[in-house]
Amino acid sequence: MGSSPDAAPSPGPDAGPDLPPGTGRTPDTGRTPDTGPPPRPDLPVPRTEAGRDALAALLAAPGDAALAVDFDGTLAEIVDDPEAARAHPGAARALGRLVPRLRAAAVITGRPAAVAVRLAGVDGAPGLDRLTVLGHYGAERWEAATGALHADDPPPAVAAAEAELPDVLAASGVWHGPWTAAAVERKGGRALAVHTRRAPDPQGALDALRAPLTALATRHGLLVEPGRYVLELRPPGVDKGVALTAWLRETGARTVLYAGDDLGDLAAFDAVDRLRSDPDAPRRTGLLVCSGSIEVPELAARADLVVDGPTGVIALLDALADRLTG
Ligand SMILES: [Mg+2]
Repeated sequence: MGSSPDAAPSPGPDAGPDLPPGTGRTPDTGRTPDTGPPPRPDLPVPRTEAGRDALAALLAAPGDAALAVDFDGTLAEIVDDPEAARAHPGAARALGRLVPRLRAAAVITGRPAAVAVRLAGVDGAPGLDRLTVLGHYGAERWEAATGALHADDPPPAVAAAEAELPDVLAASGVWHGPWTAAAVERKGGRALAVHTRRAPDPQGALDALRAPLTALATRHGLLVEPGRYVLELRPPGVDKGVALTAWLRETGARTVLYAGDDLGDLAAFDAVDRLRSDPDAPRRTGLLVCSGSIEVPELAARADLVVDGPTGVIALLDALADRLTG
C-alpha cells in the first residue's frame, strides 16, 4: 500500500535545517548533502547525517556496499491476499541494474525463500546472478548463483502451536465469517501468521486476537510479531536483524542500505544502528530506508529516508543505478 504525504515524519533533530522532510526528495534549491558529490535531481537526500554519510559512502565505493531489501510492502505492494502479491513491475530490472555494481545484495523476508523468489521474479533475471534471498527471516536461503535452496528444519514448537490454533481462534469471539477462510498463513511450519486485513473490523479483530495468540505463543516458547494487520507467531532469535547481521558479516561490506516497510523491519533497523555505532568498526555506515506507509509510522520515524512505497523504492534503486553507471 502506498503512502501519503501524511506518512512522512518530521525531520529528526539531526536533520539539516534546509533539507526537505519525509521523502527527502532533492529540494528545488539544489542544496547538496554535507558529504559526497552533489546529487542529481532524482536521487533522494536522506534527512539524517548518518544517512547522508552512508549514501555518500555507497556512491564513492559501491564495491564495499551491500543492499538488503524486504519484499512485501517494499518491492511489492501490500495486497489483501498474500499469495496475490507480485513484485513491482520495475523491481527486477532496477535490481538488475544496481546489484552488479555492489558487493552483495539480498532480499530478506518472512516468506519462504522459494515463494519470495517466485513472487519477486528474480530467478534468472539479468544482473541478479549473485542475489541472495533469505526466507523465513534467514532460516531459508536461496542463492541465485547456484539456484540452491538451503533450509533449516522447522521448529517443532510452531507445529505444536498450530495444532492448538483452531481452538484459540474459535474462542476469540471474532473468528467467524468468510474473512477467516484465508486468514491463517502457515509459513512452511516455521511461523504462523494470522491476518485480519479482510475482517469487517481489521483493527478490532487484531486487538481481540492479540492476547489469546500471545498466550498461545508463550505456551510454546514462541514470540508474537505484530505487523500490518497481522500477528505472527515464531521462535525467538529469528528475525530480520539476526539474518541481516549474519549475512553482512559474510559479505564484508562496510556500507549497507536496508529498506523495509513494517514492524518486522525494526529488527533490521536495530542491526544497522548497531553496525554504524560499533566502536570496533568505525568506518561502517548504513542507510535506513522506509517504504512509506501510513500504517507503520514507527518505521518511518526511525528511517534516514522515507520513500513513497514500492514505487519510491524502485525509483531509489534506479536513481542509484543511474549514478553508478554514469
Ligand atoms: Mg514488508
